[in-house]
Amino acid sequence: MICPRCDSEKVELLTKAPKDDAWEVYICKDCNFSWRSTEDEDITNPEKYDKRFKINRNDISSIPVMPPIPELVKNKD
Ligand SMILES: [Zn+2]
Repeated sequence: MICPRCDSEKVELLTKAPKDDAWEVYICKDCNFSWRSTEDEDITNPEKYDKRFKINRNDISSIPVMPPIPELVKNKD
């Protein structure tokens, strides 16, 4: 299986439906994207996933984990 967002092959089964194997959830070990097996192809198929939301795996290490905190503004009174 290939991650629809970053095209990584490091995809693991995260969980399954508690009954009847109705669905499975997969997670990408590179970009942490997760998706259900029952979602439409525009989510599950790497070739049909919206290209605007694709991620280049080489850029992941430079993406900030948390947004930067702005400087503290002092009160004027
Ligand atoms: Zn991924």
